[in-house]
Amino acid sequence: MRNNDEIEKVAHEFVRDCKQEMAQFPLYSVLNADQTGIQKELYGSRAHAFKGAKNVERLVQAKSSLTHSFTFLPMLFMNGTLGPKAYVKLAEPTGRIPPSRPIPAGITNLEVRAGKSHIMTKEDMCDWLKSCVFHPSLPKKLYLLLDHWPPFKDHDTIRKCAPPGYDITIRNIPPHATGLIQPLDVYFNLPWKNLLKKFTNYVINFHPEFLIAQRNNELCMVSALYHQISAREFQSFLQYPWKKSGYMDRDANEPEFTTPAEYCMGKATPEDCYISGCGELGCLKCARCQNWVCFDHLVVSQIHLCPLP
Ligand SMILES: [Zn+2]
Ligand SMILES: [Zn+2]
Repeated sequence: MRNNDEIEKVAHEFVRDCKQEMAQFPLYSVLNADQTGIQKELYGSRAHAFKGAKNVERLVQAKSSLTHSFTFLPMLFMNGTLGPKAYVKLAEPTGRIPPSRPIPAGITNLEVRAGKSHIMTKEDMCDWLKSCVFHPSLPKKLYLLLDHWPPFKDHDTIRKCAPPGYDITIRNIPPHATGLIQPLDVYFNLPWKNLLKKFTNYVINFHPEFLIAQRNNELCMVSALYHQISAREFQSFLQYPWKKSGYMDRDANEPEFTTPAEYCMGKATPEDCYISGCGELGCLKCARCQNWVCFDHLVVSQIHLCPLP
């Protein structure tokens, strides 16, 4: 095990070398992808703080939710955008999505797969590359900044997954350095989980009948919130991880940004839902269409995936 000074030195040199190479690529071609486990973190401390018989439902919800987890794999581009699709791997008792309980058809921004475990395999990586990375809306020349997960180090396999005409550059972040220089670790996973937590707390308080531990409820929620965090409104927020980890220079007048949790569920006074005739109070302000959306029209009777950037 190397000491911290050595890790910092290796990290610094890695960033310096990558930065030079990245300058040869347009910002929309450079991406960082990383798996993150979504599980207990979803549940804010408030979920556990309730006492009394009236809140048994909430406690039950919080407790059962803890047993449920999945792997979430987003792509963050240097131009301050997220991939059109994020990959989700979840566990099902049989290892497959049962035809009797399919993934809701409205979820168009997640590629959802099941296995006996939510842990990703090399086969899952290839599936992710084909379904999310080599996506027709994304460039064919790509610079992939990945960690040292063994399948990510298998560059031959990654290239073999690419259709003809792709030009792939891969760099693996050195061991022990991801916390320092992986953009998604440095400043994305935490605000993303904060948004999930904030919404989860809202559900536990105001819609305890909506069981988040039910796979499809959870997926609808993640889909609706991924739609929010990937809004153009958050371009500066999504570029900041690249600056904080050193791959990108900071501007002289660094733009201030609002985090998705602040924008969507922050202090602004809620207004009525944008669906005419609904009459419910909105629970989230959409960062794309700027409308307030009620809980039902966000994740229940429809998933709010408005067509705006
Ligand atoms: Zn919208
Ligand atoms: Zn509504």
